[in-house]
Amino acid sequence: MSRVIVITSGKGGVGKTTVTANLGMSLARLGYKTIVVDADIGLRNLDLLLGLENRVIYTILEVLSGECSLEQALIKDKRQPNLSLLPAAQNRNKDCISCDQIRNLMSILEKVYEYILIDCPAGIETGFHNAISSAREAIVVTTPEIAAVRDADRVIGLLEANGIQKIFLLLNRFRPEMVKSNDMMSVEDVREILAIPLLGVIPEDESVIVSTNRGEPLVLGKKISLPGLAFENMAYRLEGQNVDFINFDLHSKNPLKRIKNFFLGPTTT
Ligand code: ADP
Ligand code: MG
Repeated sequence: MSRVIVITSGKGGVGKTTVTANLGMSLARLGYKTIVVDADIGLRNLDLLLGLENRVIYTILEVLSGECSLEQALIKDKRQPNLSLLPAAQNRNKDCISCDQIRNLMSILEKVYEYILIDCPAGIETGFHNAISSAREAIVVTTPEIAAVRDADRVIGLLEANGIQKIFLLLNRFRPEMVKSNDMMSVEDVREILAIPLLGVIPEDESVIVSTNRGEPLVLGKKISLPGLAFENMAYRLEGQNVDFINFDLHSKNPLKRIKNFFLGPTTT
């Protein structure tokens, strides 16, 4: 049975699309037939992050309205043949599709793909309900900010109310230095508030922005970055493997901190 996982958050701009692209590519690299579905109708982005924007001809909406076949809309990644993208429409209203239509489409995809990752729009309105309607699992993305965590909490409640019980936490844009100076919530703080299993912690890193702009997922880089490694670890954890969480102190760019860690050992965040 394929795993249908929605990537959601409530709040916008916390990293849902970044996570969908990188986790999708990581799972495909592990050998799983994976499709990433852009359910952010009207604000499509996933094609850009994957560098596939020039190949979009048809979108999920033409598939649902019968204007094209599913095969015509699917884009196979040339760098990684296990990965496909079903793009969203850019200029149409997200209210024009229904949960039933999405469920039918997913049941077709489930026959082919081992992982189906759905990139959810921000908010908790129609687009959110469509995106979660056929998911059996969810990854809730949040940053360590009070507004994002509160929205994540609300979304977890809605996911549970909709029968999704397997919900993972992904903490993005984490900055250990700010935690040390008591200016940011720690991983433990967020975990305690949201009380769902932690799938991964992605540090704030400019390589994420560079990869977004280049349309090249981090996990494809020749020299893998720290966030790239964190995404790969997430893929292994989804598969049930017990992978240690990265200790960001050990990778600090601050030379003084590295020296201090060398002598005193890293402090946990
Ligand atoms: P969402 O899909 O939730 O709206 P995106 O994935 O589009 O969020 O990310 C929003 C912005 O934040 C993008 O410009 C992206 O490059 C940036 N971003 C996401 N995660 C990180 C990170 N870990 N470090 C630095 N920038 C990030
Ligand atoms: Mg997005």
